[in-house]
Amino acid sequence: MSKKVLVTGGAGYIGSHTVVELVKSGYDPVILDDYRNSDPSVLKRITQIIGYEPTHVVCDVCDQNRLEEIFKTYSISGVIHFAAYKAVGESVENPLKYYSNNIAGLVSVLNVLKQNPKVPFVFSSSCTVYGEPMGLKEVDENTAKSIPTSPYGYTKWLGEQIIGDLFISNNRLRMMSLRYFNPIGAHQSALIGELPVGKPNNLLPFITQTAAGIHEKLVIFGKDYPTVDGTCVRDYIHVVDLAEAHVKAIDHLLSLKNGCHEVVNVGTGKGTSVLELVHAFEEENNMKLNYTFGPKRSGDVIEIYANVDYAHSLLGWKATRDINDGVRDAWKWEKSIRNIQ
Ligand code: UDP
Repeated sequence: MSKKVLVTGGAGYIGSHTVVELVKSGYDPVILDDYRNSDPSVLKRITQIIGYEPTHVVCDVCDQNRLEEIFKTYSISGVIHFAAYKAVGESVENPLKYYSNNIAGLVSVLNVLKQNPKVPFVFSSSCTVYGEPMGLKEVDENTAKSIPTSPYGYTKWLGEQIIGDLFISNNRLRMMSLRYFNPIGAHQSALIGELPVGKPNNLLPFITQTAAGIHEKLVIFGKDYPTVDGTCVRDYIHVVDLAEAHVKAIDHLLSLKNGCHEVVNVGTGKGTSVLELVHAFEEENNMKLNYTFGPKRSGDVIEIYANVDYAHSLLGWKATRDINDGVRDAWKWEKSIRNIQ
């Protein structure tokens, strides 16, 4: 029988793609979501891709009693925990919203895990834990974490700490924190993708919405950074590659006899500037994008990309898609939700 993997936030951007990849690898995902930041219509779309309606439960991840019931009802064999808020700016304006949901949600899931210590656990962390890496551009898992620049960043920083502390108290638990770099793109079917709530903060959704005519132009924040072309550099990873990394993480944890808390970078290992991403979008989709330069955005890291050696040696995983795939799939997705030919 297929192993059931609970995917909290399974209707969200990375969650929905992970659900699809879990099915492709023979797992039986159980989607847990309360749709506060996603749309239930994603279930129909996932159904179209995988060929059957996935198991789904409406539940607030902070509701520990419900979580306990769900664990029992479905005999859960693994957990991937996505359900959390993720808007950096909003977290500065409303920090308690972030601390109460992201931290309480994680603690609630971990409390249930403590009662089910054989169940492996994967946490969605972020490269935000590195902050502005001192003099480094390429970061590996041993690069020192630094003080986060937002409450959102703190919830990931503290999340890893909480998991580490739990592991010290019970070293039979099998846990992994995946530090994501910048997810982009969408499923090649254009049936699932990112659905930003309100005006997007992230670069590629802003680019695709500008191309779709929703915004007049993209403002590039800063043009005189000490980088290849003066704009900030990030490691953009295709969301399907990222989803595949989660499946490898669950495969790996299930294969272990002993407990662990592994921390693994999930990126491509390659830095791309804002301008390079814009040009890739224009070339790949054969169109011109209206953009201008504006002031720097406060708190922006100048340049960061992943060293991905550990992901490869531990999980046998490597990104196989590049930014051209990402910008093409993101535009295909944007066109499909806007009914653009
Ligand atoms: N960016 C930009 N204009 C936008 C949105 C983002 O120039 O409208 C830049 C931003 O300053 C950063 C890069 O794009 O250098 C990636 O930003 P994003 O918010 O997507 O990711 P993060 O900064 O969290 O890595």
